[in-house]
Amino acid sequence: MAGPGEFELIREYFTSRFQPDAETASSAVGPEFEQGVELGIGDDCALLIPPAGKRLATSVDTLVADVHFPAHADPYRIASRALRVNLSDLAAMNADPLWFTLALTLPQSDPNWLEPFARGLAETARRFGITLVGGDTTRGPLSITIQVTGACENPLRRDGASAGDTVFVSNKLGAAAAALPIVLGRVTGSEQQQQWADAAYYFPEPQFAVARAIGQYASAGLDISDGLLGDIAHICSASGLGAELQLETLPQAELVAEINGGDALETALTGGDDYQLCFTVPEKHLSALAALQLPITAIGRMTADQGVRCLLNGEPWQARGNGYRHF
Ligand code: ADP
Ligand code: MG
Repeated sequence: MAGPGEFELIREYFTSRFQPDAETASSAVGPEFEQGVELGIGDDCALLIPPAGKRLATSVDTLVADVHFPAHADPYRIASRALRVNLSDLAAMNADPLWFTLALTLPQSDPNWLEPFARGLAETARRFGITLVGGDTTRGPLSITIQVTGACENPLRRDGASAGDTVFVSNKLGAAAAALPIVLGRVTGSEQQQQWADAAYYFPEPQFAVARAIGQYASAGLDISDGLLGDIAHICSASGLGAELQLETLPQAELVAEINGGDALETALTGGDDYQLCFTVPEKHLSALAALQLPITAIGRMTADQGVRCLLNGEPWQARGNGYRHF
């Protein structure tokens, strides 16, 4: 049986679930879905009212099947991951979520795929207070492009660091990279490891709480999508500086040591997909920051010398990889 046509598909899976007055989506409706949306899905453009006195922060990311997620993964999880990685960019800029658009390329119109995908998208959107306001639907190899827009008062840019600033990361690193072989089915972990891997890979947590808390203290920051080593290099080049990292301080996710054994440090340093924050803080704010007792760890400092140097217990340490790059 053929699935719904283009316009039916849009109405059934997207318009109805993201409109405040839609009966079918009553459980997914909250006041957050009315935020500045004069006109949502259905016209040539959405009409959106930006919050007074704030800047809009906007970012887009494409997830391609078998590059960014396994093509046959659970569609609910694909939707969760696709929206969360985009939300992470808003968090990393210290912007509050407002709206997103979705450009969806599908090999076929399959209700068995679309239903869980739309449910995953709506549940994730609701949890983070962002609403779908438009998109595009085309046929082709499975690919998901999401553009997010948020409101920003205190932006966390990459170019604000100074020599001597302390480098921090949020939470722990390496879980998503360690999870990958399990997620791809190349390694069969224990039941507990499979649950960890699933959470790390498909449900990364955009670090809004940490970003808001550090917003007034941090001089620069970003989210770690391609591995700490490669991503901190972006802060370095944007700020015209270098960095020195003390690798023994690197907070490694439990899963990393368990699954990757001897490669745990390398994985935490160069593994992608964690979506934790890396940020820099001037000396004068360190004690105020410490008082907040955030889940963050100091791992090094910014230097006037360019380049990223790694030390392990005082000895120079050379990573094999350099973070993920598409080209
Ligand atoms: P147009 O031809 O004017 O570009 P479309 O026919 O592509 O419009 O889309 C019709 C409406 O449905 C538009 O408002 C568009 O934003 C919305 N839309 C299309 N695909 C999606 C989608 N996957 N998710 C959300 N909204 C969508
Ligand atoms: Mg169109």
